[in-house]
Amino acid sequence: MAKKVLVIGEVRDGELRNVSYEAVAAGKEVADGGEVVGVLLGEDVSGLAESLIHYGADRVIVVNHADLKTYTTDAYQQALLQVLDVENPEGVLLGHTSLGKDVSPRLAMKLNAGLISDAISVEMDGGDAVFTRPIYSGKAFEKKKVNEGVVFATIRPNNIPPLEKDESRSGDVSNLTVDIKDLRTVIKDVVRKATGGVDLSEAKVIVAGGRGVKGKEGFEPLQELADLLGGAVGASRGACDADYCDYSLQIGQTGKVVTPDLYIAVGLSGAIQHLAGMSNSKVIVAINKDPEAPIFEVADYGIVGDLFEILPILTEELKSTLV
Ligand code: FAD
Repeated sequence: MAKKVLVIGEVRDGELRNVSYEAVAAGKEVADGGEVVGVLLGEDVSGLAESLIHYGADRVIVVNHADLKTYTTDAYQQALLQVLDVENPEGVLLGHTSLGKDVSPRLAMKLNAGLISDAISVEMDGGDAVFTRPIYSGKAFEKKKVNEGVVFATIRPNNIPPLEKDESRSGDVSNLTVDIKDLRTVIKDVVRKATGGVDLSEAKVIVAGGRGVKGKEGFEPLQELADLLGGAVGASRGACDADYCDYSLQIGQTGKVVTPDLYIAVGLSGAIQHLAGMSNSKVIVAINKDPEAPIFEVADYGIVGDLFEILPILTEELKSTLV
């Protein structure tokens, strides 16, 4: 049965995050021939509406409000509840990002609806949207559906391919005025860490270092390789604990969960808590001097040897191939 599905777009630094387009693709499936409605929240985000339509949304609702410039739970929850009230959708999809993870349970709870979080795929089964999600730190997968009421789901980045961009697509873009009041938190200023570069959680290529890189400067060849491949640098907790890098780079059970196309694990052992954050990567390459390191059990390609010898060779080889 055709449904109306809202997809909450996520804007960062004036651009839509890729996962928003991936959520639109998932929304198309869940809508089952019905309508996919993009929702954009921010201070001045109307200019991004068209892009959601080019990637498959049928129409877009824009909510511009000064209190939505930077994400706060309170303001986004108030605004989205008003959108939901007006639209009355059968499905609501968000990215499985910090924003999506924070606001989706609150919205689902207010609507007394079921929430499926961290979905990596969705298929229709007799009119029901059945989501697949990893469980037990990625060691198994479960298929889940919401039996009745609104279907809420968050979509893990880098798993559901976005639809092909079609600039000839057009759709209605409407503004919705919302009332936001009694905010308990107000963001006065955002101070960024000087990390820059590719966003780790959405990167297609990740070069991750562990305690084996032996120091802050040991991350430099990893950064060079990541830059060459248009990717991002990640780390094990061992490397973070040793103060070789910032905790924002940590991948694993208590760090970020990533699913890049290519994960190059350098000088990290592959502890179970690390695997929890990266074992679903599409291709895993491990570089480790210990042939017994557990990372080789999940690796598609393994190189046994000293990372300080192997990385420069690999980088040089890639430079000559890619240039
Ligand atoms: P090590 O285990 O010390 O491995 C270093 C590796 O480098 C070794 O395999 C060694 O052979 C190799 N090596 C050394 N020198 C070289 C060289 N010159 N060339 C090539 N290889 C070399 N860990 C995470 O990563 N993410 C998490 O989210 C996380 N959450 C945790 C949560 C809990 C509750 C607990 C208890 C632990 C958690 N951990 C997590 C920690 C985890 O158990 C490991 O301690 C950690 O992942 C080890 O980091 P590492 O692989 O860098 O270090």
